[in-house]
Amino acid sequence: MVNTISLLGSTGSIGRQTLDVCREQGIRVAALTARSRIDLLEQQARAFRPQLVAVAELEPALELARRLADLKIEVAYGLDGLRRAASLPESEAVVTAVVGMAALWPTMAAVEAGKRVAFANKETLVCAGELVMEAARRYGAEIIPVDSEHSAIFQCMQGCRDRGEMKRLILTCSGGPFFGLRREEVAKKSKAEALCHPNWSMGEKITIDCATLMNKGLEYIEAMRLFRAAPEQVSVVIHRQSVIHSMVEFTDGAVLAQMGTPDMRLPIRYALTYPERRKSEQPPLDLLNCPPLTFAPPDLDAFPCLKMAMDCAKAGGTCCTVLNAANEAAVELFRREEVSLGQIPDLVAAALDRTANIRHPSLEQILDADRRARTLVMEMAAC
Ligand code: NAD
Ligand code: MG
Repeated sequence: MVNTISLLGSTGSIGRQTLDVCREQGIRVAALTARSRIDLLEQQARAFRPQLVAVAELEPALELARRLADLKIEVAYGLDGLRRAASLPESEAVVTAVVGMAALWPTMAAVEAGKRVAFANKETLVCAGELVMEAARRYGAEIIPVDSEHSAIFQCMQGCRDRGEMKRLILTCSGGPFFGLRREEVAKKSKAEALCHPNWSMGEKITIDCATLMNKGLEYIEAMRLFRAAPEQVSVVIHRQSVIHSMVEFTDGAVLAQMGTPDMRLPIRYALTYPERRKSEQPPLDLLNCPPLTFAPPDLDAFPCLKMAMDCAKAGGTCCTVLNAANEAAVELFRREEVSLGQIPDLVAAALDRTANIRHPSLEQILDADRRARTLVMEMAAC
């Protein structure tokens, strides 16, 4: 169990739930970071008294520094501030709860400082996962997944001493709000409809990714990176009830599943208390009142984002970066209601079509592919 953490992205859905866990477990928060919501950041700083608060943008950072002038809290800004928060000597662990590829630099700072990284941010693993995992090995950083499926897999793998015994990772997927619809029907759904997830309450970007099943596609690649699995060792099964958070099949035929109520505080808590399990106030899973547990294959025609992600996972290289960057840009346009839900897979597919894949990219080539894909999506959407 860790005693002190830095929390990157404290104002978001995972960030706020991480603070619940810190309160519950008496974990000290040495650094907080966010992009701009300084009202909430100020409240959090007053409640947790970190030594450092870093804000991504300058103006809100100056305003926050003015508001916190009565406390002994340093306010930093920009990438430097985020990197300092991620590598603070006092913090044993860093929770990466920033959304999107923007988490890459602070995550690398945490890895290079040899921290335990409680990894919520999936986009950096999709874009640059091989480099992040390689750096983690080099610097002795401990990567512990927070995404519920990957935490479930990590929990099922405890006690597995030989990775060769792992045969298949089975990611469960709720199916999202548009389960059972045809592609043309999904394409017409509004932002308000896409933001209604049946089982989980999350930030807007990931909720939209759940509606297109791109989230499961990103998680497919995330699973390969975290557990060094080949694409054929990862499968997706629709499990509407979100009671089983994912499973691992072993070579002897045993399948282990991790079950529980859908509450992200469990994987967050486990990432911070690992290898221990600590008591929580979470309501227990009531098996006798659970709906029947069902399993079905995903509909890859209705949800082309999942199919594209699986194809990119097989191809490897910068196409995973392009997939993620094009999706981030397209989802942002959908959030601003400038494109339809159906245009998200179209824009991602067009960005992939127009970009040559680089199989073993350097960090510079990854950053370049990321920038180009975002620009391509903006240009195509403007036509
Ligand atoms: P969110 O939108 O609620 O919060 C995002 C946080 O990141 C905020 O604190 C915001 O200030 C910060 N941020 C955004 N852009 C930034 C930038 N450019 N620089 C610095 N900080 C920035 O997102 P969320 O739902 O909490 O998700 C966070 C990450 O966790 C995502 O990668 C998501 O895929 C993953 N995740 C979330 C959940 C969930 O239940 N919400 C579950 C599994 C995985
Ligand atoms: Mg998940």
